[in-house]
Amino acid sequence: MRRILVTGGAGFIGSALVRHILSSTEDQVLVLDKLSYAGNLASLALVADNPRFAFIKVDICDRAAVDEAIAAFQPQLIMHLAAESHVDRSIDGPLAFVETNIVGTCMMLEAARHYWSSLSEKEKSAFLFHHISTDEVFGDLENDTDFFTETTPYAPSSPYSATKASSDHLVRAWHRTYGLPVIVTNCSNNYGPYHFPEKLIPLMIINALAGKPLPVYGDGGQIRDWLYVEDHARALYQVVTQGKAGETYNIGGHNERCNREVVETLCALLEELAPEKPAGVNHYRDLIIRVADRPGHDRRYAIDAGKIERELGWRPDETFESGMRKTVSWFINNPVWWQSILDGSYRGERLGLAL
Ligand code: NAD
Repeated sequence: MRRILVTGGAGFIGSALVRHILSSTEDQVLVLDKLSYAGNLASLALVADNPRFAFIKVDICDRAAVDEAIAAFQPQLIMHLAAESHVDRSIDGPLAFVETNIVGTCMMLEAARHYWSSLSEKEKSAFLFHHISTDEVFGDLENDTDFFTETTPYAPSSPYSATKASSDHLVRAWHRTYGLPVIVTNCSNNYGPYHFPEKLIPLMIINALAGKPLPVYGDGGQIRDWLYVEDHARALYQVVTQGKAGETYNIGGHNERCNREVVETLCALLEELAPEKPAGVNHYRDLIIRVADRPGHDRRYAIDAGKIERELGWRPDETFESGMRKTVSWFINNPVWWQSILDGSYRGERLGLAL
């Protein structure tokens, strides 16, 4: 039984990770999360009464609060997911990304280093700091046949990916300079239940169910490698328990699809799973419209996930089709979760999301 501290555990991937750990292992979990607009305790409702689960509302930039939580919980593993994560928001307001993704990660590294250096040799060798990052740090792939590997040079394009790249470098520097045992994972685009409704897939499902337009950036030809979030959660747990300190692992879904295909797949699934359409809608796909492209929008990301497969035996369980079917069904069956975000009641305020 391990004690695992998870930052950002009230977010999309963090909550999937916490649900996975508590349902599949005997481990204890402490979540530290500041509950930004993207954090939602309703995403942790299934584990809230579990005696192996605890939550503290903490900003990772608050070093004293982080130190206090670590000293009280004495984690063997720290899984660091807290971040500002939405590219469009990073274009509108990059400083919040610098603050949480760079300064916040540095605070977590210093807190972890301070704690780790106080441990016995045996405890030190069992400790790991796992930094959860993105494939966006690698930037755009030029050729259709190229893939990101663990040694691809960093070339981030957006303020979001630049701050995540910076945090990855800091994590490696703390390993090289101070010997802190770290692991970095870089994962492709996730989708699935509890996905915040400003991101492409939930936005499209929710808009379609309301008969609203489905806005696709530019020609919709931007290619991403889509991974079902529960497959990512399994991969993260496998890496933190079986991976090697100092290593990086790429995680991907073997599911390259352009945005246009993603939206068309969603529309086809909705025809089948929600055949009673809003008034005036004949076919969900008729709601698709083109909007001006995002500045600096990378064209293609694709992950070579060979290392994690070879060394740890991880592979995704879901195909794009099975994962998307589960996702569309989840959003159809859980309107209370996303409606409370749209009306702001999940945190007692209106968000003014452009939905
Ligand atoms: P998310 O935006 O859904 O959740 C982020 C969580 O972090 C929220 O609960 C938020 O309240 C919390 N948080 C933000 N700032 C904080 C702070 N200063 N202190 C404490 N908590 C704070 O993000 P996500 O999609 O779940 O992503 C989680 C991690 O995985 C991020 O580091 C992201 O870069 C990475 N990642 C995401 C994807 C993806 O497709 N979503 C893919 C690869 C990697």
